[in-house]
Amino acid sequence: MKGKYDVVVIGAGVAGLATAALASHAGKKVLVFEKESGTGGSCLTIERAGFKFDLGLSSIPGYSGGVVRDFLGKIRADLTLIPIEPIDHLIFPEITLEIPSDIDQLITLLSNNFPEESNNLRRFFKVLLEIRNELASEVNRRELIGMYKGFTFEQMLTSFFNDLWLKRILGGQWHLVGLPPGQVSALAMCNILGEPLRFGLGLPAGGIGSFASSILKSFKDSGGQIRFDSEVTEIITEDGRAVGVRTDSGEEVSAPVVVSCIDARKTFFNLVKEKIHSNYLDKLKELKVSKPVFQMHLGLTPDANMREVKNGIYLFEESNTWVRISSPTKWDNSLAPPKHHVIKATVPILDEEPIADWDGWKDLMAQRTLQSLQGLIPNLKDNIVTTFVETPSENETRTGNSSGAAFGWALTPDQYGDERLSQVTPIKNLYLAGHWSAPGAGLADVIRSARAVAKFIVS
Ligand SMILES: Cc1cc2nc3c(=O)[nH]c(=O)nc-3n(C[C@H](O)[C@H](O)[C@H](O)COP(=O)(O)OP(=O)(O)OC[C@H]3O[C@@H](n4cnc5c(N)ncnc54)[C@H](O)[C@@H]3O)c2cc1C
Repeated sequence: MKGKYDVVVIGAGVAGLATAALASHAGKKVLVFEKESGTGGSCLTIERAGFKFDLGLSSIPGYSGGVVRDFLGKIRADLTLIPIEPIDHLIFPEITLEIPSDIDQLITLLSNNFPEESNNLRRFFKVLLEIRNELASEVNRRELIGMYKGFTFEQMLTSFFNDLWLKRILGGQWHLVGLPPGQVSALAMCNILGEPLRFGLGLPAGGIGSFASSILKSFKDSGGQIRFDSEVTEIITEDGRAVGVRTDSGEEVSAPVVVSCIDARKTFFNLVKEKIHSNYLDKLKELKVSKPVFQMHLGLTPDANMREVKNGIYLFEESNTWVRISSPTKWDNSLAPPKHHVIKATVPILDEEPIADWDGWKDLMAQRTLQSLQGLIPNLKDNIVTTFVETPSENETRTGNSSGAAFGWALTPDQYGDERLSQVTPIKNLYLAGHWSAPGAGLADVIRSARAVAKFIVS
């Protein structure tokens, strides 16, 4: 086995890149293996017919600061962010609400509509931001985390508010975490809402892929190495300790530390061949996987009528469908040929039924999503230049995430924070980072997981 590395990282999504960059900047010799031909995983920009489409998420939580910006500063990554204002819209049949990044403005807006809840609104957002601060802190501060860790977001809302409509509005951004308020962890919601409400939201110029590329550049500048088109097929172990990896080309690379930033079930059921304690394997079998999404991306001509399009979460009552719709060319016109538009529609898939006929399902979902978009863009059909669609099954093939899970393990109260799989595993010197490990999913959380692993490696 070749043996010139201190650390081998599996997967070049944000978690793998962040772990690799932090370890490399701390002086470790790091090699990353990525099965695809580029970086990013769930944070990828592809190009079709001159349009750039963001597969996965599109924006960075924290324009002016926060976990992600602090991390980029630490590794001296060079990234241009475009501020997004307002940060979101909720477009329900009965009401359209603009969500500004300024939390005081948001409280005033909501208090004007729900005057009897105005004190509760102040108390709620104070607690939400304090939870965000406790979660983001590198020091162990956990008073409110301890208080709310068993709560769903709905339970948390009910502990503050009486008005059903207000609770419905405050829970409306559940799309960002993939589970409705009655199921999702209150802490996960406070994390995902708190970061942009404290520091704004930023769009990486040139698409979300520039975010991953900026981490990659910083990693390489500090001496790190990456191998693309190299799938890790085995984590080599000796007496319960990770000692290296084997790839699909048969190459073996030894290293005293291996970090897996891919699906945890695949890590332990496919890559680790050594027998490990059955309690751990049983737990892996029991954990619930997060729900996938259906994604449709359209490149549109300059004539498309975009007047009614707001970036936000739409509830289409007639089909009872929730769709997140955004047009990133509103902020960054480099994502399309001159004066053209990009539209992205993401539909969460909450069904429990397994899908047997993916091709038929894909056609049906594409048809329904186009119908929803047609309601907003009346001349849509005559102005489509190109379309790109990704099903959960295609997402699994691309990212390796089981069933196309968008957030690793489901973000329920019993699977968030310390309740999620730890970075430390039963195999010595094999660590986990990313959305299949603690503390959660989304950029801020996977960077926190990378920070935690880097601490182990460096010490
Ligand atoms: C459609 C969608 C929308 C989202 N929206 C938001 C949002 O609005 N806000 C938010 O914060 N989060 C959002 N997320 C979640 C967020 O994108 C993820 O939690 C995060 O990017 C996960 O990063 P990761 O590095 O853990 O995993 P991934 O991004 O899945 O990366 C895993 C990488 O490992 C590679 N790999 C897999 N197996 C192997 C192997 N055997 N050998 C080598 N390489 C391998 C894959 O190719 C991939 O590059 C969204 C996700 C999706 C899919």
